[in-house]
Formats: sequence, C-alpha cells, structure tokens
Amino acid sequence: MRPATDSLPPILGSWARALIDVFYPRNCILTGEPLADSRYRYLSDVAVRRLPRIHDPRCPTCGHPYYGDIETAPACHHCENLQPAFKTGRCGYLFKRDIRIILHSLKYRKRTYLARDIALLLADAPGFLDFLSGAVLVPVPLHPTKLRKRGFNQTAEILRHLKGYSPTPLTINPLLHRQINTESQTRASRSERLKRVRGAFGISETAVLPPLDTRCIVFDDVFTTGATLNTCSHALRTAGFKNIDVAAFAHG
Ligand SMILES: [Zn+2]
Repeated sequence: MRPATDSLPPILGSWARALIDVFYPRNCILTGEPLADSRYRYLSDVAVRRLPRIHDPRCPTCGHPYYGDIETAPACHHCENLQPAFKTGRCGYLFKRDIRIILHSLKYRKRTYLARDIALLLADAPGFLDFLSGAVLVPVPLHPTKLRKRGFNQTAEILRHLKGYSPTPLTINPLLHRQINTESQTRASRSERLKRVRGAFGISETAVLPPLDTRCIVFDDVFTTGATLNTCSHALRTAGFKNIDVAAFAHG
C-alpha cells in the first residue's frame, strides 16, 4: 500500500510523492493504467475525459441535465415533489458507474487520498466554482457516531481540497450538526429517506454564525432525492438564513 502524503507540507509533500512514485508506481483507479503526468493523482486523463460531467442546460433546482423549457415550465422528475427550502442546486457529475466507484472508494474503503482528485474534478466541472463564488459553504455533517466510525467526513474533506483549486477564496463554515443518526440511505425508498432525514439536522452549538443575509451553499457528496440537502436548508432557514443554495459532487 502506498504511504499517504497528502497531509504533508506542500514542498515536502511533492518531494515525498516523487520518491514514493519510484517505489510504488501509481495506477488509475478506474482503468489500471500507470500514471505519470496526469493532473490527477489517481485518475488517468482518459478516465477523466469519459466521466459524465453535467453541462447546461440543467434543472435550476437539482442541477440534473434538463432539456425541457426552463423559462416557462421547469418540471424535472428528479425534484418535482421536493418543495425545496433552497433556491438553486448545482451538481458536477452524474452518479454513474465510474463516479460511483470513485466516491465509494473514498467513503467505504476509506481512501481519503481520493478527496483531492474529487475536488479537482469539481473544479473542472463546468461552472461549478463560479456557482460557489462568494458564498459560505456548509458541509453536510455526519452524525458523531458515524464520524467516529468512518474517521472523516467526506463532504468536509472534498471542500478542504477544493479551496486549493479555487481562484477566489472559499469560505467553509460547519454550521450544521446531525442530531439523528439516519441509517445508510443507499437502499432506502424515496419516501423512507424523506421520513428518516426529517429533523435530522440543526445548527451546531459551536457554530459561528455569519450575517443572516449571507448566501449559504449546503454541500453534499451526492444529490439523490434532495431530502438531505433540503432538510439542511430547512435548518438554516429556521435559523434565519434566507439566501440558501445547494451543491453536490454527483447527481444520481
Ligand atoms: Zn430537477
């Protein structure tokens, strides 16, 4: 297994990475091909080019590619029953095969070193950094029990690395905490998910609240039904914030 170098200081980190590459050559986690000059640490250029990036036109609410008439009748079947507490949603990629592999490797196989590449994927996603510009980014929190078990919060990790790729400063503020430990949602039905996340989030007791007219963007790894991001938005709205958007790495 390759030693981790992402937490080292930049100068020492690049030196250590170069040395480690000699003894532990890197391979693309999707194609298996050896990596040398790719901008990504664990993805080949070929693999990155074929990832399902989301372009305009897209649904203004959930960010899914949208081919209807956005001006007059935005009816997107991915979010039509959501009743969003937020204004606009933006996602970088469709949650299809390769994106699923990358994200599952990060979350469930604890390959935290992939957070850097996921952040770079988001920086390369059309319009994603522009969408975040000027906002306070609020990562969707894990329940403390789950955080202890996993050892890291993937949304916070991705945002931490995304700061390094943004041309304008990104402000990250962990305003929310998770007060109910909802089970893993991957196999739950839509109505079950909605029921489980209701009331799951609140403002963290240790939060330093920005002014209430601040544009807040709640960030999650995946926008599935939108229930989690919507519940987080409700919690912010209850606290008095009015200008709330949401964003996710993938839509699926
Ligand atoms: Zn939609």
